[in-house]
Amino acid sequence: MKTYTIALIPGDGIGGPVTRAAWQVLEQVAKTQGFGLASTVFPWSCDFYRKTGAMMPADGIETLRGFDAILLGAVGWPAEVPDSVSLHGLLLPIRKAFVQYANIRPHRLLPGVEGPLKAERFDILCIRENTEGEYSGAGGRVHQGTGDEVAVETSIFTRTGVERILRYGFEQARGRRGKLASVTKSNAQKYSMVFWDEITARLAAEYPDVTVTSYHIDAMAARMVMAPESLDVVVASNLFGDILTDLGAAIQGGLGFAASANINPDRSAPSMFEPVHGSAPDIAHLGIANPIAAIWSAAMMLEHLGEVEGARAIMAALENTTARGIGTKPGRDKTDDITRAVLASLNG
Ligand code: ATP
Repeated sequence: MKTYTIALIPGDGIGGPVTRAAWQVLEQVAKTQGFGLASTVFPWSCDFYRKTGAMMPADGIETLRGFDAILLGAVGWPAEVPDSVSLHGLLLPIRKAFVQYANIRPHRLLPGVEGPLKAERFDILCIRENTEGEYSGAGGRVHQGTGDEVAVETSIFTRTGVERILRYGFEQARGRRGKLASVTKSNAQKYSMVFWDEITARLAAEYPDVTVTSYHIDAMAARMVMAPESLDVVVASNLFGDILTDLGAAIQGGLGFAASANINPDRSAPSMFEPVHGSAPDIAHLGIANPIAAIWSAAMMLEHLGEVEGARAIMAALENTTARGIGTKPGRDKTDDITRAVLASLNG
């Protein structure tokens, strides 16, 4: 029997309960599908930072490297640890060290979930570049604190980085409805974004079976609201993808439903799967965090590991649960009740 080793990082706040829910579902699917799962739990979090002065131990990255995948809950507790510390101490180092350059977020309305739009169909796969672009961290400040202060932040787009994320987008489109939307702002940003558009056009010749259209970010934001059914796979830079995926999460009913994966497509290091939401301190002790985003992320993990049937079974159970009206309204149902309903659907 194949056994997968999974690093579990529950993190802070609602990260704990939603990761527990996802793990329960994974264990049940593993039993029925005939594969094994071995988890190691790492308490790396803001609490860990308070106790040790670091978000993870110095050899944390090397420890994680040996696992088949990482399942993460949520990291951050801004009242006590600045977001810049928690983000730069854990999530960003993992994404960078393991070259998880494709951040993928499926935006789809599950049955029974009412989004804010009257769209007949909302099913978009957003792919966000995860390692460079506007979030490269290249820049500086001079004359700090004076009236002459200057802040410079430079976007970095490399041929390697742009080509690989676009290629990933083309491949995903090929496996779906065959449509790729590439998002830039090349009318205003005439170096980096024109570069991106040129690479898109060149790669298009290699994928004649994929229809590719380039959009400007502003037009894409409007299209996601006005004509979402016209979209299939959307690929964008780090910043543009960040913004569009929050819009996508809102349209699919909110953060309780937004799943994500940080993928290393070459499989040279583990990929990481996590709900899009944060630690939600406001509801952390109420027992009402929606575990659906975390469970969906776990399904993405199984798909990445090659357990496609297991992933399908989880998605079918989630759909069955929301179709019955369970977990569809924020704050109404308990985390445990939603999890129980998903587990019952898996059995049924
Ligand atoms: P971060 O800065 O860590 O990304 P954030 O400030 O954007 O986090 P979240 O922690 O994601 O905020 O939560 C935003 C709001 O959405 C919370 O106040 C919470 O009410 C709600 N929320 C987030 N995730 C869930 C969930 N899984 N179930 C129910 N409500 C949620």
